[in-house]
Amino acid sequence: MMKPIIFLCSLTLALSCAGAAKQPNILFLFTDDHALKALSAYGGPLARIAPTPHLDRLAKEGMLFEHCLVSNSICAPARAVILTGKYSHLNGQLTNKEVFDGSQQTAPKLLQQAGYQTAIVGKWHLKSTPTGFDHFEVLKGQGQYYNPMLITNGRNVKHTGYTTDIITDQALNWLSNRNKKKPFFLMCQHKAPHGRWEPALRHLETFDKIKIPEPSTLFDDYAGRSAAPAGHKMGIAEDLGPSRLMFRYSSKFTPEQFKAFDGHFRPRNEAFEKANLDGKARTRWYYQRYIKNYLRCVKAVDENIGRMLKYLDNTGLAENTVVIYSSDQGFWLGEHGWFDKRWMYEQSLHTPLLVRWPGVTKAGSRNARLVSNIDFAQTFLDIANAPQPKDMQGLSLTPILRGQTSGQWRKSHYYHYYEAGGHGVPVHYGVTDGRYKLIRFPEKPLNTWEFFDLEADPLEMKSLYGESKYRQKVGYLKKELSRLRRAYRVGS
Ligand code: CA
Repeated sequence: MMKPIIFLCSLTLALSCAGAAKQPNILFLFTDDHALKALSAYGGPLARIAPTPHLDRLAKEGMLFEHCLVSNSICAPARAVILTGKYSHLNGQLTNKEVFDGSQQTAPKLLQQAGYQTAIVGKWHLKSTPTGFDHFEVLKGQGQYYNPMLITNGRNVKHTGYTTDIITDQALNWLSNRNKKKPFFLMCQHKAPHGRWEPALRHLETFDKIKIPEPSTLFDDYAGRSAAPAGHKMGIAEDLGPSRLMFRYSSKFTPEQFKAFDGHFRPRNEAFEKANLDGKARTRWYYQRYIKNYLRCVKAVDENIGRMLKYLDNTGLAENTVVIYSSDQGFWLGEHGWFDKRWMYEQSLHTPLLVRWPGVTKAGSRNARLVSNIDFAQTFLDIANAPQPKDMQGLSLTPILRGQTSGQWRKSHYYHYYEAGGHGVPVHYGVTDGRYKLIRFPEKPLNTWEFFDLEADPLEMKSLYGESKYRQKVGYLKKELSRLRRAYRVGS
């Protein structure tokens, strides 16, 4: 009678081993408002000044996506898209204002059903209690840069220290104590580098003595486009205000932290007041203050990505863990005179995407396809060998990650921003095929279009809408826009 039992045991063992190989761990490392320009693997004028070596390691050991485009460039909606694999109008999170409907189908819930242990640590920002996670430990709302409170499976737990470090500490804690018999899906989601950009104490002096190059469009006058961009309220010159410029602090500091933090900023603020700058000189000063603090916040993120990767190395998990790095959207680092996001223009439409999948994805590869955060949910499921529900609206990226890129891929991307008036950005939607971009501002008094040729005008300084030379292209993109709106069930 013993033999069949032994046979069954070995069969179970063999199946579970095969299951483990088929179901790699998934580590989703995520940030808030990380511009491509501030991730050195993407190159650009800041790469040498503010390198991100740990993030670059992911690119060196995996794949960098050059054109990962978001579907709605703002925080909470992007998070909902990633969880559901559905556009905002179907997942219900059109703006930052709604409460996310956690009763709906999400990738973490489906991963649980597929045998994964799931966890989220860090920024959640969806108002409702997280669902689909065996463990959640999330900031309340935006959270603070220092001494955060983390809602830990429903209980408020106060922490002392720098939030980017603490989120990593807690993610590593969970990894160390997880159920090691199951594959894991961990979303480690930083607040940084979202405003208001309070750097770690160890980085207060970083970049202090240097001048960060200004973008050529810092003093854009918005001529050559529709009236939409001129109506912005995200100007470095006009809209940063005292909290974003560190004349006022957002975090509740301990006395020691305050001493170091205020000790850095106060004398510099006093020197600024004394200098009595105006016009362009004042804007330039604001830009330096803003960009340096932003890059300091990114630096702490990069260090903490390094800590996560080191943990995977030291525990032998690296080989069977797919590491994905992305952000909820891109960001304006002074281009067009702006901070913030929201627009369908390039810097806020693009978000970073790096994927390391050992043994599957070719190290150091780059991909130029039009991919999107609408694809993430299905990619998670496909990596886990779990079925992709038919009502999800993206495409699994695994064929690209496996190097099986046939000619078949989407040729255009649909974008839709709904939060009317936030930072002066009107509702708009549009389509891009990577070379050309058509944007519709449907509401009065704008009720207008813009059209850009990104090859001729990569900085998007001149809308060519209405120019006879481009009539055919515009016509083609209008048809494509209608087709996508029908296909994604947006409406007419
Ligand atoms: Ca964001």
